[in-house]
Amino acid sequence: MGVGMVVAVDGPAGSGKGTITKLVAQKLGLVYIDTGALYRCITLYMIRNKIDLKDIDKIQKMLENINIELKKEEDSDKVYLNGEDVSIKIREKEVNEFIPQVSNIVEIRENITNLSRKIAEGKEVIMEGRDIGTNVFPNAKIKIYLDATPEERANRRLKQNEQEGIEISYEDILENIKFRDNNDKTRKIAPLKQAEDAIYIDSTNMTIEEVTERIVKIIKEK
Ligand code: C5P
Repeated sequence: MGVGMVVAVDGPAGSGKGTITKLVAQKLGLVYIDTGALYRCITLYMIRNKIDLKDIDKIQKMLENINIELKKEEDSDKVYLNGEDVSIKIREKEVNEFIPQVSNIVEIRENITNLSRKIAEGKEVIMEGRDIGTNVFPNAKIKIYLDATPEERANRRLKQNEQEGIEISYEDILENIKFRDNNDKTRKIAPLKQAEDAIYIDSTNMTIEEVTERIVKIIKEK
């Protein structure tokens, strides 16, 4: 690795990208960038300000006036939207439900792509999302595509929800995962897909530690 180097990690919802990418960043001293958080901030802003998905003028004005910052504070990663800490709010149900439509808007994707590149400038980063290896950093030296079966991903989310006291049935979680997969994979612009030069990791039968070690090894070998 060196300054300006990027590790791109892509994969579907619930593949463990977030958890694992953060651990790899800690182990190797890389800057962790969660591009999903950027889409989530824009979605939250649109919900709060009742911005219509078809009102491109308003969307463009919003993009000029919005300021998103990803900050590492002590042990946690914080997300700021125009100076407000929205780290928790961007994970709420309303945002989850509205985000597929928001992430299909070309103007928004272009803006977030540029912002993601700017945040990475001059740093050693590990960036996770859906289109990092294919679109944001097609020349990244290291690309990982992290996957798991929809059933396993639903199971993981179910366990996570149980720990947080959230009650959603396994069937509902599985249905939502399949819906999001379909939206992310069939989107016209920058859909989720494995880059040709990405290393595919199926984490279905692997622990978090095993996947983390595997990625650390791949990076060290490059
Ligand atoms: O990773 P996370 O689940 O937070 O991403 C939320 C949503 O943001 C995804 O379901 C997808 O619609 C969108 N997204 C995207 N491109 C990225 C990152 C996230 O379209 N690079």
